[in-house]
Amino acid sequence: MKTPFVTLEKVNEIEKEFPTPFHLYDEKGIRENARRLHEAFAWNKGFREYFAVKATPNPYIMKILQEESCGFDCASYSELLLADKVGSKNIMFSSNATPDEDFILAYNNGAIINLDDFTHIEILDKLCGIPEIISCRYNSGGDFGVEAGNVMDSPGEAKYGFTKEQLIEGFKILKAKGAKQFGIHAFLASNTQTEEYYPVLAGMMFELAVEIKEKAGVELNFVNLSGGVGVNYLPDKKPQDIMKIGQGVKEKFEQIMTPAGLGDAAIYTELGRFMLAPYGHLITKVIREKKIYREYINTDACSVDLMRPALYKSYHHITVLGKENAELTQVYDVAGGLCENNDKFAIQRELPKVEIGDILAIHDTGAHGYAMGYNYNGKLKSAEILLCEDGSFKLIRRAETPQDYFKTFDFSEEFKF
Ligand SMILES: *Cc1c(COP(=O)(O)O)cnc(C)c1O
Repeated sequence: MKTPFVTLEKVNEIEKEFPTPFHLYDEKGIRENARRLHEAFAWNKGFREYFAVKATPNPYIMKILQEESCGFDCASYSELLLADKVGSKNIMFSSNATPDEDFILAYNNGAIINLDDFTHIEILDKLCGIPEIISCRYNSGGDFGVEAGNVMDSPGEAKYGFTKEQLIEGFKILKAKGAKQFGIHAFLASNTQTEEYYPVLAGMMFELAVEIKEKAGVELNFVNLSGGVGVNYLPDKKPQDIMKIGQGVKEKFEQIMTPAGLGDAAIYTELGRFMLAPYGHLITKVIREKKIYREYINTDACSVDLMRPALYKSYHHITVLGKENAELTQVYDVAGGLCENNDKFAIQRELPKVEIGDILAIHDTGAHGYAMGYNYNGKLKSAEILLCEDGSFKLIRRAETPQDYFKTFDFSEEFKF
């Protein structure tokens, strides 16, 4: 069972000020979850979560996470500017195909640069010099699996990271060029559904750390397990137990790192989805209904507000607010208004009888939701609203207007809006 973090009553109150559709975030849930993560890794002295900014690039949300001891993982120039705006001193820069100006800004802002490729060592050296703290991203190649196919991904086909040989050679060079503190990073599977992912990944990374110590003479200061811990989008799945995950990583750490004299190394994470997805709803109103070969309900939100179903056929649970306990008597396709037939939030979904004017809460949209949006069909991006811990609410990004959409060609005399 999935229950929304907001009631119809509250949404009606919000809606009087800010019309639907909008993304709504649950401050209380975000804070409690961030505290659980820190508790799960409290055994590791240097532990830090660098929230993956791409998941929810909103400075108000970032500020909350910063108050909960998180740093930020940035991958682009604008994300670096955002982290800087929030005033963060803890920035990880995990980018790929990195432009010069991004390297320079990351360097100048004191971010820990996580190099994606062997050739980037020389590029960074020429641009800025090698910083004292440096990280390299590892690609293990082949396939990466956990627990009887529960996680299966193909790092061998992924564009990221160094091979092991490049990594060992790379650390020798970085050390010779004056780097003093070192780290490794790997992101090998996304939205994993087993508590085994991090421990298995950690085991692999810790063994690599030992090998790097032996072969490159470099003692790692941190191991960055990156993102990939998933959430239970499906209502019959249980959320992952982060305490169990933290314990699993601890066991590997004590087995591998401590005996190798690497017991002071810090564990870093770059979780995005796990930090935010469950604490966001896309709130949308039913504006039309139609019956042809299937029954449709049409919402004022569409794929531009939440691309995941169109892009990956992802399941997002839907609650009809105020009808939480009503019987599921109907089967609908829940569709937006784009001229694209994949613009459906749900396909053949069992729901209670829906009426025009009903408000839907689409679940687990707090990460990779608003962030992936776009302006296809001239659709405008929605507002983002924070449901504060004390029950009040706050606009944290206004909805776009047509003027926003026209802004980028408004410079010409020919097309002034
Ligand atoms: C996307 C990404 C993350 C976050 O991934 P989640 O699946 O949201 O946890 C972390 N690090 C890097 C480098 C990424 O690209």
